[in-house]
Amino acid sequence: MALIITDECLNCDVCEPECPNQAISMGESIYVIDPARCTECVGHFDEPQCVQVCPVDCIPVDPAHVESKETLWSRYRRLQAQAPSANGVPGAVVPR
Ligand code: SF4
Ligand code: SF4
Repeated sequence: MALIITDECLNCDVCEPECPNQAISMGESIYVIDPARCTECVGHFDEPQCVQVCPVDCIPVDPAHVESKETLWSRYRRLQAQAPSANGVPGAVVPR
């Protein structure tokens, strides 16, 4: 499942830098989560980091994006493969 930010959001800016998938951004009036990038933090953390830090508890599961753990793992792997590596090539392994 992806998560969703409700209109109780205070625009406090706390969650956005905590997201390991860069799934959170400022929307038209409040912060929004891109369901194509949210893995519920699967692959990075045991708990959704945005939920952990939100002071008003306004980030529930999005009923429109109910997904299995396997789907979330697949998304995590796809995002990792796309992420620029240290040498700027997506997914490339940098020799040490
Ligand atoms: Fe980002 Fe994790 Fe929150 Fe999804 S649950 S928006 S991946 S911090
Ligand atoms: Fe909104 Fe909560 Fe994120 Fe703050 S932490 S910007 S209140 S969703």
